[in-house]
Amino acid sequence: MRWIRLILYWLLALSTAPLAAEPPQPLILSPGQSLFSLNTHIEYLEDKEGQLGIDALLASGLEWQPPKREVLSFGFTSSTYWVRFTVSRELTDNSPATPYVLVIGNAILDWVDVYIYENGSLAAHHSLGDKLPHAQRLLDYPHFAVPLKLQQSDTTTVYLRVRSSSSVLIPLHIYSNQHLVERSYERAVAQALFYGAMLVMALYNLLILKSIRDVSYFYYAMMVLSTAVVFGGIEGISFKYLWPDATWLNDVVPIMSVASLVAFAALFFRSFLLLPQTRPFLGRLALGFVYASALIMAGAFILPYQQMMMLAVLLAIGGIICAVWAGFARWLDGFHGAWVFNLAWGCLLVVGMLLALTSLGILPLEWFSMRITQIGAGLQAVLLSFALAHRMRFEKRMAALARQDAAKAQQKMLEHQIQANENLDRIVLERTLELEKTHAKLREISTTDGLTRLLNRRAFDDVFLTEYRNAHRCQRPLAVLMIDLDHFKRINDNYGHSFGDLCLVRTAEVIRACLRHSADIAARYGGEEFIVLLPETDIENAVAVAQLIMDALSRSLVTDEQHQLRVSASIGVASGVPKELTDQEALLREADRQLYLAKENGRNTIEWQKN
Ligand code: GH3
Ligand code: MG
Ligand code: MG
Repeated sequence: MRWIRLILYWLLALSTAPLAAEPPQPLILSPGQSLFSLNTHIEYLEDKEGQLGIDALLASGLEWQPPKREVLSFGFTSSTYWVRFTVSRELTDNSPATPYVLVIGNAILDWVDVYIYENGSLAAHHSLGDKLPHAQRLLDYPHFAVPLKLQQSDTTTVYLRVRSSSSVLIPLHIYSNQHLVERSYERAVAQALFYGAMLVMALYNLLILKSIRDVSYFYYAMMVLSTAVVFGGIEGISFKYLWPDATWLNDVVPIMSVASLVAFAALFFRSFLLLPQTRPFLGRLALGFVYASALIMAGAFILPYQQMMMLAVLLAIGGIICAVWAGFARWLDGFHGAWVFNLAWGCLLVVGMLLALTSLGILPLEWFSMRITQIGAGLQAVLLSFALAHRMRFEKRMAALARQDAAKAQQKMLEHQIQANENLDRIVLERTLELEKTHAKLREISTTDGLTRLLNRRAFDDVFLTEYRNAHRCQRPLAVLMIDLDHFKRINDNYGHSFGDLCLVRTAEVIRACLRHSADIAARYGGEEFIVLLPETDIENAVAVAQLIMDALSRSLVTDEQHQLRVSASIGVASGVPKELTDQEALLREADRQLYLAKENGRNTIEWQKN
């Protein structure tokens, strides 16, 4: 390897010998300009053992190299690097001396020594790096900044000695003081926006977690906070504000934050995409990332920073790939909101790749790439929050639909119940009516004579008792006609029993037709014996009714297909104002006696007590 490299260098030296031999030009600070890039004015030197001091370096004839890339970047390395450049002020400048500041734009370098030589002699030596407490810094600034006191005619040469277990990236710029102040302000606003937004996102989702109890929101909030801590570490902000004296945390926290970002991201996409239920393999893979992150977190306290950081970065890249894979798989499944998720992770993929490539020394860490990564991370946070909201809305809609279905089912059930109740009511009503009808029929049957449709004797007895008591109470007359058909036995014998029945039916009709008052009642009292009750009727009026019946009978002709016959009857009449409340039988006995007399007197006649 070494031989090949030597040969390559040799060939390179041959081809670019005149150029390579030329030392870089000193940087001239012209007064019209306020920001200067040192890229083309620097040379570097690798000290593999890290043993050289500044004097030994100056004494040795070691060869300085021009930078191979735009920004000095050596990735993870154990070597110490020396960088040098020369600056001078423009001679034509007559304005008062503008102060300048050298800024080393990487906040996480472990050790940075700055030696300033003015006109060949050492003017200042500053020790910087995140292994030193923040209070020791020359300027209270997240990056490493060194004031340069450049006199009008001076030629100042600066030597930097850089050693770091983090990725060795050395972006170098010289700012005018005024420009640094202005840029600091812009930086502060941009950072306040970024960290403020991340904090708000995390808090907001924690609040949502409190109300809807979906653990995805917790993972998401933790993920966002981890992202903020990762960036805060890279930018030197957490060191400046959170633990300015605890330099050991500068090695532990970056690894911890990257690992926790991976762990919470894996937990988040596992739960958000419902991987255990739908894609068990990817669910287990996500858990694998969580365990691996936990191991790296534990390792951050005991194992070397460089190896652990590399592992964490590799794990992050793997995690992002896994998330994109899972998102894509779930998108194929038709999972709701997967597209927003994929968009968000697409952003993080870009961010992660940029960060990883930068920390591995392939891409330079510059203001531009730093901002792009921050914007990407912020965008991802916003999009994921949107994905969560999207899912919440989706779930809400599903719940609303379910509620609607339930309400519909309930409504239907209610309608059924109402219908059933109505049916039941109708059936009960029908049954009641039927029962009432039956009851009425039964009552009618029990009180009516089947053949003549007049009251039967039992019913008559009830009515008679009531009327008798009324008459007794009011001391009003009550009359009874006892009517017996004459020689009915003979009719039966001569014309047959059914013709006899017909005679009974016709007689009943005749009697009913002769009753004029609604209170008058006729009943069948025995076989061919009828009884008429006439309330409020004295003997004369009762005899008149009897006469009416007698006449009507004599006029009516009972006929069937073969026979024609007039029937006659004997009628005994009795009437009186009741003297005793319980002596109702006396009136009946009297009527019966008169009927007997009528029979005695030759039948077809009316008998009553004549005074
Ligand atoms: P009298 O003039 O003395 O009353 O003579 P009668 O034949 O009418 O008297 P009797 O009491 O001896 O006879 C009554 C007859 O009436 C006896 C019975 O066969 C007949 N009879 C009773 N109930 C019915 C009935 O429901 N239908 C028919 N066809 N005949 C009946
Ligand atoms: Mg008779
Ligand atoms: Mg009789």
